[in-house]
Amino acid sequence: MSPKFTIPMSSPDLTEAERQAVSAVLQTPYLSMGRELEAFEAAFCNFTGSRSAIGVNSGTAGLHLCVRAAGITEGDIVITTPFSFVSSTNVLLFERAVPIFVDVEATTGNINVGLVNQAVKDITSGGTAAENWLPSSVTSDGARLKAILVVDVFGQPSDMDPILKIAEEHNLKVIEDSCEALGAEYKGRKAGTLGDYGVFGFYPNKQITTGEGGVIVTSDDRAASIMLALRNQGRAPGDTWLEHSYLGYNYRLDEMSAALGRVQLTRLDEMLAKRSRVAAWYENRLFEIPEVETPKIEKSTSRMSWFVYVIRLTHAVDRDYVVRELEKRGVPARPYFAPIHLQRYMVEQFGYKEGDYPVTEDLGHRSLALPFSGVMKETQVDFVCSATREIIHQAGM
Ligand SMILES: *Cc1c(COP(=O)(O)O)cnc(C)c1O
Repeated sequence: MSPKFTIPMSSPDLTEAERQAVSAVLQTPYLSMGRELEAFEAAFCNFTGSRSAIGVNSGTAGLHLCVRAAGITEGDIVITTPFSFVSSTNVLLFERAVPIFVDVEATTGNINVGLVNQAVKDITSGGTAAENWLPSSVTSDGARLKAILVVDVFGQPSDMDPILKIAEEHNLKVIEDSCEALGAEYKGRKAGTLGDYGVFGFYPNKQITTGEGGVIVTSDDRAASIMLALRNQGRAPGDTWLEHSYLGYNYRLDEMSAALGRVQLTRLDEMLAKRSRVAAWYENRLFEIPEVETPKIEKSTSRMSWFVYVIRLTHAVDRDYVVRELEKRGVPARPYFAPIHLQRYMVEQFGYKEGDYPVTEDLGHRSLALPFSGVMKETQVDFVCSATREIIHQAGM
């Protein structure tokens, strides 16, 4: 935490059990590819009901392996969202695939399924209808539409049923970026298990952490065996240490991280309950401020997994002024997300401009992530909310 802040933006929730588990690994010579990883993966299979769980050293690595296992290659089209953390799009660019952005729902920030349906129809029919969805720098034909990559934004599942339906009709793979949604449920089904492959991320601000890390879950055995090989420098089952059947990566999760994650996963219910309680403290203090919109939970979200607490300020409020004033009071706050299509490298490669995805841009302009974690104290939430209210009112907005 920068010394200018008195409340951290996020904090991991760690106990003696985690410290002991990591320390126990350090008493052994097995620091990678050992029992802890196997146990962590087994616990994930048990938790999700998926046939395979594959530990990796970041959520991004997990998403990249999904893209490789789906057979997505140069020039293939993947429908995805511009309102996300950049890695959900970057993993497509790593393989020189073409991300086609579809704007999001204003309520949740998740991909707009009506627009997904329209995009799939237009792109597969080819011709001029397809052109509308492609960035000006790209020409492609609908036959190359391969997958839909959805993101469960801020811990709330996307509206998966209609997405799965259209994917099935058009033989598309569905990759679920659930890096922000461990433990969330959609109509009683677990986020991350709804598409062909799902990915969870364990960076220290996530619901559970391994330091750096992630896990892929899938019930597709063929994909799982490819992912296992690619994670481990392309070694297929039966390859020796210096035999590599495929072009692979080192995306392995080490034993200390796996041990930490295994204990964290056993505490998931407790930690999600604490996060819900903090979110409720925020809601109770902020809902009556007219310039503040608090997060909305869809009916289809049968279980919310609070990842961040992101409010939206009305158009009359200068968000960046609020950020600066909060900072003066020792409170960190940040815009979340910044639209992916407006990142410099995306503009350079695809020629996107302001106005291309208006809902995403509007959320990007008005969103404000406030400090949030399961270990936050009610007095800290009080302080953040009082400061926010005061700043908005003093500015006469
Ligand atoms: C955290 C996160 C990831 C993965 O991030 P890593 O830092 O690579 O673990 C991917 N997508 C989203 C939406 C995320 O929030």
